[in-house]
Amino acid sequence: MAEFIYGQSSKSARLATHPSSRTCSEGGCSTTLSIYNPSAYCWLHEPLTPRSRFSPKRRLTR
Ligand SMILES: [Zn+2]
Repeated sequence: MAEFIYGQSSKSARLATHPSSRTCSEGGCSTTLSIYNPSAYCWLHEPLTPRSRFSPKRRLTR
């Protein structure tokens, strides 16, 4: 516990940022990830992105 309280003094230097030299984990993708991006993939290959599906709405209207 003592170490945890002691570490709070340097909280400003411990923001939730990530190394700036990371690239997308997708094979063949060399997109540099943002330091604020917690994901291992870029926005294009982010599996949690609903836009990646881009499913068109089919209303079956002929
Ligand atoms: Zn990617």
